[in-house]
Amino acid sequence: MTNKQTDPNSQFSFALLARGFRKTCPKCGKGPLLTGYLKPQASCSACKEDFSHISADDGPAWLTLLIVGHAVVPLMLFFGRSDVVPLWLAILILAVVTLIGVYFILPRAKGIFIALIWLTGATGQNEFSDSPDLKD
Ligand SMILES: [Zn+2]
Repeated sequence: MTNKQTDPNSQFSFALLARGFRKTCPKCGKGPLLTGYLKPQASCSACKEDFSHISADDGPAWLTLLIVGHAVVPLMLFFGRSDVVPLWLAILILAVVTLIGVYFILPRAKGIFIALIWLTGATGQNEFSDSPDLKD
């Protein structure tokens, strides 16, 4: 790991989000961030940046539902208030839109979350949990 205070790439930027969206390393933008569909790499194959301490947890699922939900709910309202589309077709369309949306967005949301956690260092691990001063 490099010292992020002196690294010019350590500032928030849309390029950082774009690297996450493309599922590439947030530091160099070259190495792949994920192996397979969702499993994160332990480190970058290009610049060797360590990602093993980063866990995106539920963040990518939350962001995916936020985005896909805003596409699916208006469709549900439209189908529910009109008789243009039969019910079986409405259910089929909603299922397909949901599955394709989740399939496309979930790994990209994970890339964005890993990039943001990498930038901020907010890994969720409490550095002071073993400190005797904080124990009562
Ligand atoms: Zn890299």
